[in-house]
Amino acid sequence: MIEALGINHIGIAVASIDQRRQFYEQTLGARFEGIEEVPNQQVRVAFFLVGAPGHEVRLELLEPTARDSPVARFIEKRGEGMHHIAYTVDDLDGRLASLKEAGVELIDDEPRDGAHHTRIAFLHPKSCGGVLTELCEPRQ
Ligand code: ZN
Repeated sequence: MIEALGINHIGIAVASIDQRRQFYEQTLGARFEGIEEVPNQQVRVAFFLVGAPGHEVRLELLEPTARDSPVARFIEKRGEGMHHIAYTVDDLDGRLASLKEAGVELIDDEPRDGAHHTRIAFLHPKSCGGVLTELCEPRQ
């Protein structure tokens, strides 16, 4: 079982962070947190916080850094928009092992490094009601 401790962030695919930033900051009123490059996913990610203090939700804008990267292919196929939901979990290794055993299709058998000092793993949308699902374990 995933037993999420919360929603860690919502991932949104964009062709250009610079072009989309204005919507999130000026129109939505989200607070810009920073930009990080995640080489193993071939993306540049920008983080924004929405919501009142103590109730913030993080949005992650994903901009592909390579033409043949998964996010670039996603945008090519479906256009910009909702990409994945990430849940905060503990014991990521144990969760992946038990999900695999339960027949859940994993994209990542082993955790990898995510942005914001986390370890992450993706589950296949086929096993998650059509939603690309990320499990996210903050490093202690
Ligand atoms: Zn994510």
